[in-house]
Amino acid sequence: MSTTDVFEELYEDDEYRNSLATVDKDGKRIWLYPKKAKGPFLNKRLLATIVFLTIFISGPFIKIGGQPLLMMNFFERKFVIFGQYFLPQDFVLFGLGMIIFVLFIALFTVAFGRIWCGWLCPQTVFMEMIFRPIENWLEGDGRAQKRFDEAPWTFDKIWRKTLKHIIFIAFSILIAHMTMAYIIGIESVKELISQSPSENLSGFIGLVVFTGIFYFVFTKLREQVCIAICPYGRLQGVLVNRDTMTVIYDYIRGEPRGKIKKNAPEETQAQGDCVDCKLCVQVCPTGIDIRNGIQLECVNCTACIDACDDVMEKVNKPKGLIRYASVESVEKGVPYKFSKRSIAYSIVLTLLIGIEALLIIGRSDIETTVMRVPGQLYQTTEKGTVTNLYNAQMVNKSQNEINVQLKLVEPAGELRVVGAESSIKLPSGEKREVVFFIELEKEKVTSTKTEVVIELYDAEENIETIETTFFGPVAK
Ligand code: SF4
Ligand code: SF4
Repeated sequence: MSTTDVFEELYEDDEYRNSLATVDKDGKRIWLYPKKAKGPFLNKRLLATIVFLTIFISGPFIKIGGQPLLMMNFFERKFVIFGQYFLPQDFVLFGLGMIIFVLFIALFTVAFGRIWCGWLCPQTVFMEMIFRPIENWLEGDGRAQKRFDEAPWTFDKIWRKTLKHIIFIAFSILIAHMTMAYIIGIESVKELISQSPSENLSGFIGLVVFTGIFYFVFTKLREQVCIAICPYGRLQGVLVNRDTMTVIYDYIRGEPRGKIKKNAPEETQAQGDCVDCKLCVQVCPTGIDIRNGIQLECVNCTACIDACDDVMEKVNKPKGLIRYASVESVEKGVPYKFSKRSIAYSIVLTLLIGIEALLIIGRSDIETTVMRVPGQLYQTTEKGTVTNLYNAQMVNKSQNEINVQLKLVEPAGELRVVGAESSIKLPSGEKREVVFFIELEKEKVTSTKTEVVIELYDAEENIETIETTFFGPVAK
């Protein structure tokens, strides 16, 4: 039988695509009771979880140059990424960063599928590594938990359910506080905790809302976030292709599937490696059967790989009936290797990250716009010099106060700031407007628009160089 025949025979009944594993015929939610998977992939995911939680919890406490690692304060329009302070004035850099980010996501998904969802997405990490294990501990695993839910209310059931929800609320509160720390900063969160709710009502309401959302997501919504709500999940349909690395069932090797019949002659046994034990379905947190092919609901959590490898070991067959591979490699029966397209995408991804990093590193601490004051031409003085009046708008994008000094570099002349001492004080994140004169000897005015170069200094350090023009009568 050819590869195409196996595929067509296996998927000729596409019924599974017309329904969701978590919704019954009447449109009611089917509650999932996934069985706990064990194996090398789970162990690796546990390590990834430790790394994620370490970064997530310590992130708001880590300071770079006095600024947090990451802060997205939408209320005050202050954004800090890797200790770099971004203001609304950085919208070009921010916009470019967003475009690079979207491109990065698209290219990453085309090459590596939903690997992010299974290993590092906070939704999966919290659900599968914290909330689900707590539930399994108190209410049992898989089917035992279903029986526990269906059983009548007893003292044992009441205290277990109560304790579970107390722990769930405690974790939701903790996650809400950490999330707030990434929005308003850890200092503001500490202040919020130390005050009574009435002293900072909006902050307190924010914490309660976040706690409620997290509690609802991890207690009720669960896999529905990945299946129906998350926009990234919905994008999979257009991004994944035949070369994408994903968790996949090797239907060439597995079909025709069938249970092993004890003491039956070999010719009556199913010929494929899949023993139809359905363990891969039982462990799936989104309730799908990976043997139906790549599906939007699969979050690449690898639970089915661990479950199936365990079965394969028991029936003395090679592991990897479900594995990380591409459709192309499964169909050709060859080990998965990076396609040229995936390599090209990885190179582009690296370049994009490099470009954004260079843009951030090269970003100046101050942004200045200099324009001649509207309606003013030039003035000639009694000494025979020519003056132009300018307006400068300065924004301090650094984390420190800057004492700006303006110096005329080219051509030789004089620069005088109106109503300011030797330097202009510019606190972090603040914007200031100043008016200044440039006075040139007549012979320095070489055209109607003579090029002038102004340098901005903070103490002895040159922080910005600006080029503008000087308007005046051309010297004869
Ligand atoms: S099919 Fe496998 S990898 Fe995909 S979500 Fe289900 S268990 Fe996880
Ligand atoms: S766990 Fe493996 S052997 Fe069992 S049904 Fe799934 S694919 Fe087949």
